[in-house]
Amino acid sequence: MQGHSLQRHLILDYLRNTGEHPTAERIAEALSRGGHAASTSNLYRNLTILVAGGQVRRLSLDDGPDRFDANLDPHYHVTCTRCNRVWDVAIQEGDRCDLALPEGFRPGVWEITVRGICAACARGPHPFES
Ligand SMILES: [Zn+2]
Ligand SMILES: [Zn+2]
Repeated sequence: MQGHSLQRHLILDYLRNTGEHPTAERIAEALSRGGHAASTSNLYRNLTILVAGGQVRRLSLDDGPDRFDANLDPHYHVTCTRCNRVWDVAIQEGDRCDLALPEGFRPGVWEITVRGICAACARGPHPFES
């Protein structure tokens, strides 16, 4: 394995082992820490291929850059608007029935994001808001 396919393998490996839902920038940092520095264009190209192939989800969780997720099981995202941490919450059978969808609507992709303040951030002053 070499070149693009190696990089895709490394990206997928990293995403499957982190719960962080990193941005492309964070992925680039992780690759370069592992001795596989990637140009931005190659990284985006490979992320696009992984997303198109259904191996990775591209998420817009906040106003920041897209994040990437290799957890393909149906799940909600809960994100803290202060520290930007993201948690995966499994969608339970029955959860979907509670949502009042328009009559006849056939849902395809479920993307539900809950934004708020996590317990750690709620306890203390925000480091940037002292
Ligand atoms: Zn927080
Ligand atoms: Zn996720």
